[in-house]
Amino acid sequence: MILILGGTGEARELASRVTAVSSLAGRVSNPALPAGEVRIGGFGGVDGLAQWLRDNRVDAVVDATHPFARQITANAFEACARVGVPFLILRRPGFTPVDGWHWVGSVAEAARNLPGERVFLTTGRQDLAEFAGCPQWFLARMVEPPEPPMPQRIEVLLSRGPFVVDGELELMRSRRIDVLVTKDSGGSMTSAKLEAARQLRVPVVIVRRPPLPPAQVVDTVEGALGWLGR
Ligand code: NAP
Repeated sequence: MILILGGTGEARELASRVTAVSSLAGRVSNPALPAGEVRIGGFGGVDGLAQWLRDNRVDAVVDATHPFARQITANAFEACARVGVPFLILRRPGFTPVDGWHWVGSVAEAARNLPGERVFLTTGRQDLAEFAGCPQWFLARMVEPPEPPMPQRIEVLLSRGPFVVDGELELMRSRRIDVLVTKDSGGSMTSAKLEAARQLRVPVVIVRRPPLPPAQVVDTVEGALGWLGR
């Protein structure tokens, strides 16, 4: 049996092309479900995942989680090594860098270095607390409603995308955005805001991806299918 750790478009595409069980964390109340069998919820750390791999006689694990889902990737690497199950990371490439972007090492660092007063924040609900003490005005876009702490001056926009450049231009103009904060998630579904920022000459603060464990990595679904075939 193949286990796909999901929560991304690539994970859904892979699940539509192989017979596998997909696993979701359960953060989103109405998730886009992958094809095939799906399980939802945490495994209970490395120990829980290792036990799950044994109990379900898993032959291979493809980690197709989000580039910023650091904990599950670390856990999966360790659990697979412990149980002796082949492990692959599928990560889409990051955004194509543009000169002038302000690269930071974490969301907290982004919050301390905001070169603007009206911030378009697309780092997601879980990171909103990092901006709680910031005096700036925020337009924060996310999939699920946030919980405090969060910035005092905020407009929350619930939306899952995909987004197009014209829509992003309209949004950023109407809110008089003067800085965009985003993670280097990569992917065409979320790159329109970066093109809109370029056109509007809005500064971009971009959070670097966390490092990966020393596992095999591919950056396309085709690459993952090739690995599974072998
Ligand atoms: P995380 O910090 O790496 O993981 C925290 C805990 O959540 C893990 O230890 C694990 O719990 C559970 N978990 C995470 N992904 C799981 C999965 N696919 N299946 C089962 N359990 C999972 O993860 P996160 O950043 O909260 O992301 C959660 C999910 O949202 C992931 O599936 C990810 O692909 C997706 N996502 C994340 C982001 C982001 O910016 N971080 C953006 C879009 C989508 P146990 O220790 O109990 O096993």
